[in-house]
Formats: sequence, C-alpha cells, structure tokens
Amino acid sequence: ANNAGGVGNINNENSATDPKNLRVKLVLLGDSGVGKSCIVLRFVRGQFDPTSKVTVGASFLSQTLALEDSTTVKFEIWDTAGQERYAALAPLYYRGAGAAIVVYDITSPESFNKAQYWVKELQKHGSPDMIMALVGNKADLNDNRSVSSQDAQEYAERNSMFFIETSAKTADNINQLFEEIAKRLPRPTPS
Ligand code: GDP
Repeated sequence: ANNAGGVGNINNENSATDPKNLRVKLVLLGDSGVGKSCIVLRFVRGQFDPTSKVTVGASFLSQTLALEDSTTVKFEIWDTAGQERYAALAPLYYRGAGAAIVVYDITSPESFNKAQYWVKELQKHGSPDMIMALVGNKADLNDNRSVSSQDAQEYAERNSMFFIETSAKTADNINQLFEEIAKRLPRPTPS
C-alpha cells in the first residue's frame, strides 16, 4: 500500500531506531533523461507525467511503504538535481544514504556506461552497507533494447547490487523495486 507522499526537508539521519517503522535516505543516480524523475513520480503519486519535474534542490519527496510483516519503511528520496556537476556537494548527497538507485535506459548503451561510473562513485563515497539497486528503465521500449538483461544482471552481481528492469510509463516493476530495497534494509535491534 502506498500513501502519504509529500515534500520534506533536508535530514541527514539514516534510519529511525524503531524496528517497525524504518526510515531510509535513498539517493537516485543516473544519466539525465533515463527516467529518474518519472520513476519517483510513479512511485509517490502513482502517475506517469513526463512534463512534471520532481527534481528539487534542497528538499526531497517522501513515501511510506507498508510491508507484509507490518513494518513500514519511509523513503526519503533525493534526486540529484544536477548536483553531480558540483563535486563538492557529493559527500553531502551521499551522507547517511542507506540505499541508492542507479538508473539507466535499456535503449541507451551510453546510459549503461554512465551507470557504471555512478556505481564507482557510490563505492567511493557511500556507506559500505548501502543497499544498491541497478535499474534498467524504459522496459516498455524492448523493441529498441540495446543493453541485454544478462549483461546488466552480471554487472550487478559483481558489484553486490540487485538488478531489476522497470517502466515508469507502464508502472511495471516500480513498486517491486522499492519493495526489494525495503526488504533488504537492515532491521535495527530494539534496545
Ligand atoms: P531524468 O532526467 O532521469 O529525471 O528523466 P525523466 O524522468 O525526466 O524522463 C526523461 C524522459 O524519458 C521523459 O521524456 C519521459 O517521458 C521518458 N520516460 C521516463 N520513463 C520512461 C519509461 O519507463 N518508458 C518510456 N517509454 N519513457 C520514459
């Protein structure tokens, strides 16, 4: 069940200590045009609207996901807002991130190359226990595919990521993407 989408303020804390109500900072990376904003909009608002940009400089969108074990996970989703151009901001962007989504477009080999660059950046700046997802978006454009699922899957495995192909346009695998991240998050032990 999805609910309670909205815009929040900057907060660098990683996750709450309540084991039933988790909170995670999630960062989005990938070439411009691969569909990062559309994936977030599909997840948060349940719609596909290519004209609306969610990319916002100093705030993020949040969305709470309820899992079957009655745990809830509140995602605080940070879009890059073009900040990848400003190397000095990278540590701020990655700080406290418990999960990352690296997106490419299955019709664009360049975007897959760029995704591999972002994975290296994450490995350099991010926390070693960060949950990382490799996402091949625009799966509805399968007729124009130029990145094979197998290559992407193998790359993901070598880099301890999980791999999924999505379509923000048709909603295919969008909720599954966030559910997979939620399931993999470490559960804090109650003190
Ligand atoms: P961003 O720069 O990574 O945030 O990319 P956007 O979310 O702005 O999307 C870039 C373009 O790709 C827009 O024209 C979207 O309509 C299109 N797009 C995004 N997701 C999909 C998808 O799953 N399928 C198709 N066919 N087009 C998509």
